[in-house]
Amino acid sequence: MPKILLLGAPGVGKGTHSAKITKDFGIPAIATGDILRDNLKRETELGKKAKAFMESGGLVPDDLIIALIKERLSEDDAKNGYLFDGFPRTIAQAEELDTLLAEQNDGLDYVIYLNAPKEVLVKRIAGRRVCPSCKATYRESEVADGKCVACGDEVITRKDDEAATVEKRIEVYNEQTAPLVDYYKKKGLLVEIDADGDIAAVQAKVDAALGVG
Ligand code: AMP
Repeated sequence: MPKILLLGAPGVGKGTHSAKITKDFGIPAIATGDILRDNLKRETELGKKAKAFMESGGLVPDDLIIALIKERLSEDDAKNGYLFDGFPRTIAQAEELDTLLAEQNDGLDYVIYLNAPKEVLVKRIAGRRVCPSCKATYRESEVADGKCVACGDEVITRKDDEAATVEKRIEVYNEQTAPLVDYYKKKGLLVEIDADGDIAAVQAKVDAALGVG
């Protein structure tokens, strides 16, 4: 099973496409943002350390993220492929990941880079709703009754999706995460996909890149 990395700015659609890809391949999504939000909710030590960074729109320090990833990758369901969503976010994290995988004579199979203009990202984030129970992500128009289509729970706006934080997150992405595009291009792993279209059109391009029929 493949080891896939989804790269792209906040709001570009990583969560949406991750859901389909992980289902197609039967692999788990490893979304560091979801894992951190879960820790925040449960008020774990990691959650307490990460809270202020997350709520300000900044990045959680690399050492905390690497520890979290090491633990997650040691779980049984991560032995046969997985999809990273929202990790790595810095060159240091990418280098650590390379080292970790090289220790197991392993490496990533695909880096899918979803790209869209900033105006599109800002608009999508403003209309994004998430289900706190099953983590499904929707556009505002898809959940007019305010209920999760999958499980019926009430959908919410993520705290860090509020307008004041969004600009900062995009700025942080441009400064700290965008350099990963070149990093993976140099390794010959990057597939760039124009994500400024409707979901089905982007999905078709992602499927083609991954050889999904
Ligand atoms: P996301 O759901 O991926 O947008 O992540 C939400 C927030 O969690 C980010 O704005 C960061 O504060 C934090 N976060 C998630 N993943 C990482 C990561 N790999 N490195 C540092 N911070 C992260």
